[in-house]
Amino acid sequence: MSHSVNRTALASGRSNARGSVAYNRVKAFRRFTVRVPLPDSLADLSALAHNLRWSWHTPTQNIFATVDPELWAADRDPLRLLSEVAPERLAELSTDAAFLDKLNEAASDLESYLADSAWFGDYSGTLDDDPTHSPPVGIAYFSMEFGISEVLPIYSGGLGILAGDHLKAASDLGLPLIGVGLFYRSGYFRQSLSHDGWQIERYPVNDPTALPLTLLTDGEGAPVTITIPMPGSRVLTAQIWVATVGRIPLLLLDSDLAGNDEELRAITDRLYGGDQNHRIKQEILLGIGGTRAIREYVRLTGRAQPSVFHMNEGHAGFLGVERIRELVTGPEALDFDTAESVVRASNVFTTHTPVPAGIDRFPVDLVRYYLDPDTEGRSRLLGGLDTATVLDLGDEADPNIFNMAHMGFRLGQRSNGVSELHGEVSRAMFADLWPGFDADEVPIGSVTNGVHGPTWVAPAWQHLTDPDSPSAEAVYRELTAEKIWTQRNDLRAELVDEVRRRALASGRDRGFTDAELGWTTDIFDPNALTIGFARRAATYKRLTLMLRDPDRLRAILTNPDRPVQLVIAGKAHPADDGGKSLIQQVVRFTEDPDLRDRMIFLPDYDISMARHIYAGCDVWLNNPVRPLEACGTSGMKSALNGGLNLSILDGWWDEMADGENGWAIGSAEGVTDEHRRDDLEAQALYELLEESVIPLFYGRDEAGIPQRWVEMVRHTLAELGPKVLASRMVRDYTTALYAPAASSFELICADDYAGARDLAGFRGQLNQRWGAVQILGVEDSGSDAATADPESTPGASVTLTAHVELGGLTPERVAVQALVGRVSAEGDILDPTITEMAPTGGPDASGRTLFSAVVSPRHSGRHGYTARVLPKHPNLTDDAELGFVRYPSGTAEDAGPGVVITASGYGATGAAAVTSS
Ligand SMILES: *Cc1c(COP(=O)(O)O)cnc(C)c1O
Repeated sequence: MSHSVNRTALASGRSNARGSVAYNRVKAFRRFTVRVPLPDSLADLSALAHNLRWSWHTPTQNIFATVDPELWAADRDPLRLLSEVAPERLAELSTDAAFLDKLNEAASDLESYLADSAWFGDYSGTLDDDPTHSPPVGIAYFSMEFGISEVLPIYSGGLGILAGDHLKAASDLGLPLIGVGLFYRSGYFRQSLSHDGWQIERYPVNDPTALPLTLLTDGEGAPVTITIPMPGSRVLTAQIWVATVGRIPLLLLDSDLAGNDEELRAITDRLYGGDQNHRIKQEILLGIGGTRAIREYVRLTGRAQPSVFHMNEGHAGFLGVERIRELVTGPEALDFDTAESVVRASNVFTTHTPVPAGIDRFPVDLVRYYLDPDTEGRSRLLGGLDTATVLDLGDEADPNIFNMAHMGFRLGQRSNGVSELHGEVSRAMFADLWPGFDADEVPIGSVTNGVHGPTWVAPAWQHLTDPDSPSAEAVYRELTAEKIWTQRNDLRAELVDEVRRRALASGRDRGFTDAELGWTTDIFDPNALTIGFARRAATYKRLTLMLRDPDRLRAILTNPDRPVQLVIAGKAHPADDGGKSLIQQVVRFTEDPDLRDRMIFLPDYDISMARHIYAGCDVWLNNPVRPLEACGTSGMKSALNGGLNLSILDGWWDEMADGENGWAIGSAEGVTDEHRRDDLEAQALYELLEESVIPLFYGRDEAGIPQRWVEMVRHTLAELGPKVLASRMVRDYTTALYAPAASSFELICADDYAGARDLAGFRGQLNQRWGAVQILGVEDSGSDAATADPESTPGASVTLTAHVELGGLTPERVAVQALVGRVSAEGDILDPTITEMAPTGGPDASGRTLFSAVVSPRHSGRHGYTARVLPKHPNLTDDAELGFVRYPSGTAEDAGPGVVITASGYGATGAAAVTSS
């Protein structure tokens, strides 16, 4: 049996970092915070502590460090520091002129930061004449978790840190963005290890009054709340905490209020902690409550109403139905379809996982329960919207399941995956939502994730240049090899200190005595090649791939001339015993006295640990099962500090590895036997280490510098750095998604929602009439050599004409396209060139409209052509958007929207039947 009792938990108390004793059995009944008022001259300290910008502003951090270096080092928490610092020290500082100067400087720096219009100011100025891009007047960004700083533990990992980095970069760039999330009484769990290496979870309680949060209150100082009807005539009430992230307000809903019953209070008890019933309540609170919170916040602050709503993953999907409800039941009094058109135009949806188990899905009955239909099937939760219509939004292949990602796509006119490869994988994965279209044409784009430079770049590098500045590349190019190497050595040495400190703490925590832990004082070598591997213990991430051939790994690590050391960290989901046993395997492996010097598992991976390992590791290892890593961001953070990536070509690395910034581990994707695949990929990993990575690191010149390694580091900093920054990501979101969405929103709302009404009417027509739309024939002019002789020269042109039955639609409301390309042996058109056909006449003898186009095949060889009809409307953004397409009868899949059918693109079944020869 692998679970074991944590010995320390049985002891009566445990010393914490401050040497005070915490009694595990004596729980505080209530908590309260005592705050000593700051001397007037130090008032700015409080302002600096309450704006989380300090978390990415080193000069401000240095000020807090000056206040009390020890308290600061213990947990880097400004508010805690201010509540614990000795009053005598504050008195001393209040008359310290040098300190007051620094403080004043930081305070005015924050002020000018907040006032600067930054990049977005310039960008929006350039959009004046562009009808397809309008500056969003506001963007509401919804996420289930936000990882901004370790002092605000409301995140679990990648998704949350990404959301935190998004807010920080949005702040730096001056975007008018508001974040929306939940305030959890306990955040994600803190991880420790039992004596035998089994994961133990603890859930420290978050006290909002001790955190950098302000309760949203009205003019009279009364807390502002939002309410949501719950089944059984109950009402869920939530209050709203506001965290200030630079210039970005982050609204966090909190249901832990006396007016709620126990069950409702518990909705925000912890992140990812409960069953599906718990989860759906959280998502209702996030999506519906979050939208209501935005309205309250806007009302109180006089900000503009957001014109764009961004759902960071399907968790936030209910915001779409809430927005529809607003437009249906509010003064606009739109019908459902018109309201849906408005909402779709301005919603952006980002999907984050290609792992099917990672998609958020609920039993339909559970969703229906919360929609709480009355006897006429109208949802009480949603102010009378038709329950069945809402349930259709989450429709998927399994009729018993409501799929949050599907709702996100259906209610988001613009959507994206988080790397180029993930975009491609998502297009295939969700192709069923656009039946009749080839995966390539599925309207899901991609914006590759990025990481926030000022947060993740070690101060030593930031001191040399701001990685986001245009001159950064030149600075890196001009650094001497010696300087780069010294930086790397220093950062590695700092990491080694941190490893020793954490190894000792973890050993004590596991119940080992100090006498047994003497070895931790000099583990790891500040000069040895250091490899980092830190990530969730999810199966596809393969925490234990490196243990595949234990003897080979042992030989690599313990080579006396060219030693290698490994820092490993990561949490398993509390319910995932499989993941926990992987962690235990690693821990046990590291306990070998010959190896513990070279390999360690550090418990409780979080932002505070992450900072050290990204900065100090020479190589960042990642070996997911391709293509299951949507993006991955830890390798980016390493790269920004001059770490070289050693990774499977998955996620971001697939598009950014260039042969000079690290190594690609060969992926055995064709191999279906997963054990064999693991063997092959592990071998590829060992081989790269033995033959490339290690020799390069230890290939030194007379000065002891590994010149070629240093050149790879330089190349990584200069070339890769700018591509992996969150500022690049947020600019991409703004130009590719937010600004077009804001423009669509403007257009569709203009003239009392004329565009939305027209589009909704058109969709209604399509639903009725599309069945009658047909292409009855396509013919070519035949007069040109291209058709007479298949080997004729490229460039010759053919006129194609399609006979289209419009079923009552007008020619302006359809796009008829000619598809021409070379034909494969199976008869599929390869990479067709698509040409819009123009109405040229008709009706013909049988009442059909003729559409034609002149096409010029680009290549020689055997060509095929076909035609198709799609709906056309000025408020649509993509040909495939509505999922309607019609090919010539009998040659391709004909489809309408809303039907979920097995995906199979036109290429497989169509086209060939009308090959001209
Ligand atoms: C960056 C980061 C992650 C996410 O890393 P991935 O490579 O995307 O798995 C998780 N946890 C922490 C603490 C991080 O800083």
